[in-house]
Amino acid sequence: MDRITVIVPCFNEEEALPLFLREADRAAAQMADAQVTYLFVDDGSTDGTLAFLREQAARREDVRFLSFSRNFGKEAAMLAGLEHADGDLVAILDADLQDPPALLAEMLAALREDPSLDCAAARRESREGEPRVRSFFARMFYRCINRLSRTEIVDGARDFRLMRRRMVKAILSLPERNRFSKGIFGWVGFKTKWISYRNVERAAGKTKWSFWKLFLYSLDGIMAFSTAPLSLASILGLLMCVAAVLAIIFVIVRQLLFGGSAFGWPSLVCILLFVSGIQLFCLGIIGQYLAKTYTEVKARPVYVLSETEKGRV
Ligand code: UDP
Ligand code: MG
Repeated sequence: MDRITVIVPCFNEEEALPLFLREADRAAAQMADAQVTYLFVDDGSTDGTLAFLREQAARREDVRFLSFSRNFGKEAAMLAGLEHADGDLVAILDADLQDPPALLAEMLAALREDPSLDCAAARRESREGEPRVRSFFARMFYRCINRLSRTEIVDGARDFRLMRRRMVKAILSLPERNRFSKGIFGWVGFKTKWISYRNVERAAGKTKWSFWKLFLYSLDGIMAFSTAPLSLASILGLLMCVAAVLAIIFVIVRQLLFGGSAFGWPSLVCILLFVSGIQLFCLGIIGQYLAKTYTEVKARPVYVLSETEKGRV
């Protein structure tokens, strides 16, 4: 008998949750010889999500929940879920049915068939139904981060996956607070089987990710898994020095050959602006890393619990 804990991060999902439970129950019923427990993580929802979870947990043995004191983000919700999951196998699913629960059976079958596998993960094969601009930037992001970082971050990979306990343990052994799961999953390694599926639309409610939020998240990801932007400062500085030396030689030679060169103020101003722009840009990059270091050093907890199925914390 495989004990599976299904972690579901929820932020204002009152519309989607009943649909989710129905679908997930159907999927669970199809998995022979497996005991599924749900662990919902209410990420500070302001709608009826928590009330729904309380009611379900009171009625059903196989429903547990954690509730945060405010919205801490999906990364925090996933971490809380992983920390509190007790199954031998642990799955992470979105509440909006964009991660079809039916795929769980396929993942379980894959893990059972091949004992050397530690993870079966979903990967969407297309970005259908997504705005074009968003797809473009997403693709750029994956290309960028895979160039810059040694950790492989798979394009189209979802957080949707079924993992063995030892992979969960490895993930929890990373103490960092700025968590970027797509990178962490890749970083811990282990053999992963990718299962492709078609992108599906959200069942109900709406997405919590604006373009701007995604953009900031992508910068977080790059900074969490690469220090290449820091070298950019040195490289740019070096290039500017080389250019400056060439310019100096040019000016000296021109002075010696033609003399009297008191013109060129506008170009001087442009160069000044350009160089100081680059300096500020590089300072900004260093500042970003410093800020990340600052939040790590402060070592604040990633989330604060306010309630679980056992009552208020
Ligand atoms: N989510 C969360 N906290 C947040 C934002 C989202 O727990 O601050 C949950 C959300 O309830 C859903 C999952 O994370 O179950 C994915 O969110 P969403 O569907 O908005 O993202 P998308 O699928 O558009 O990437
Ligand atoms: Mg979604």
